[in-house]
Amino acid sequence: MMPSPCRESRQSVVVQDESVADAQSTHRSILRERGQREVFCGLTGIVWLHRKIQDAFFLVVGSRTCAHLIQSAAGVMIFAEPRFATAIIEERDLAGLADANEELDKTVAQLLDRRPDIRLLFLVGSCPSEVIKLDLTRAAQRLSKTYAPQVRVLSYSGSGIETTFTQGEDACLASLVPELPEAGAERSLLVVGALADVVEDQFTRLFGALGVGPLHYLPSRDSQSLPAVGPNTHYLLAQPFLNDTARALEERGAKRLAAPFPLGAEGTTQWLKAAADAWDIDDAHFQDVTKPGRNRSSRALERYRDQLSGKKIFFFPDSQLEIPIARFLHKELGMHLTEVGTPFLQRQHLERELSQLPEDVQLSEGQDVERQLDRCRLESPDLVVCGLGLANPLEAEGLTTKWAIELVFSPIHGYEQAADLAELFARPLLRKESLEV
Ligand code: SF4
Repeated sequence: MMPSPCRESRQSVVVQDESVADAQSTHRSILRERGQREVFCGLTGIVWLHRKIQDAFFLVVGSRTCAHLIQSAAGVMIFAEPRFATAIIEERDLAGLADANEELDKTVAQLLDRRPDIRLLFLVGSCPSEVIKLDLTRAAQRLSKTYAPQVRVLSYSGSGIETTFTQGEDACLASLVPELPEAGAERSLLVVGALADVVEDQFTRLFGALGVGPLHYLPSRDSQSLPAVGPNTHYLLAQPFLNDTARALEERGAKRLAAPFPLGAEGTTQWLKAAADAWDIDDAHFQDVTKPGRNRSSRALERYRDQLSGKKIFFFPDSQLEIPIARFLHKELGMHLTEVGTPFLQRQHLERELSQLPEDVQLSEGQDVERQLDRCRLESPDLVVCGLGLANPLEAEGLTTKWAIELVFSPIHGYEQAADLAELFARPLLRKESLEV
């Protein structure tokens, strides 16, 4: 695993951002930083996406470094038939690009010959210069013509330049949107963002009981049943990092339902309510349907409230899940937020989250890692949420850390997972306490 190779050094700037106004109409200051960053690249998304779309294959077009990243990120999993691989493009000049295209075509031919089960092939771009020179969009179009209708070939970039690791999912889903069939006149709900199958099943039951539907998910579990989209589609984002996908859906006429994200009991209730209101579901019915889930999660969260209440937490920017999770930890578990850093602040999608954060929290966007480390040390938090690259040095300094990447590898959405999400933050603190005894 490696951090992004994109390391820029610029001055940090503090802005008073009037567009981020909370419910009490106060303005929040946001620290915007554009310095050296420590984040994973978008290739990391393949690790959870290949489990979700079960007839898809991800062919990374990259260097040996990319192959190592994917192998080590997914190395703990054992497959009879892996669903990702790397086509290694060695350094070559522009004259050699025709050969590179031929090699890519040959690799794809061998792969599809060996694996007739593949129905959707993603060519995933990376950041080495010899890969950037290759036009993967055209390569995907060429290969799609060759292998249609059995196999659809799409491309997106997982490059580490100017991206963070969850943007790999955004780029992948955005590449799927033009492939979605046109929806008819019936109103439908589309839940957007990769969710664990168990979570998806829970949401399907809840929306069904509420009377909201027809319901579809993007990504779907297989590429043969892609959801339809059109002007009568309402969509709910399940993840806060899907800017390009949202834009692509809106270009197809879909309308976003503004809501917080379904993290924690309150976030889940508010997220479901946004859909229920759009479908004019009676409030008493909504309360009846959601009551068992609300009660179960509230009971399950009680013991974590005792452990986490009053504890100081600091977020380095990493997964883009920082703001919804900070809202959950503060509102439902009483944690004290010091700084909440996020790689990109998608204001439009986060407005229902930002209005629920306390006024005194420092929000930051982007990163200048040395400055942020200084601020973190000054705050002396009980828990630091950060990437793998920062966790070990901070632990060596005596701080307790939580790896942000675990938040995208674990099922954390919905009522039944609220306590599991709390447990992710309670565990490092408990471990530290037990080591101190
Ligand atoms: S895409 Fe770039 S940052 Fe990611 S593993 Fe490959 S070389 Fe490294």
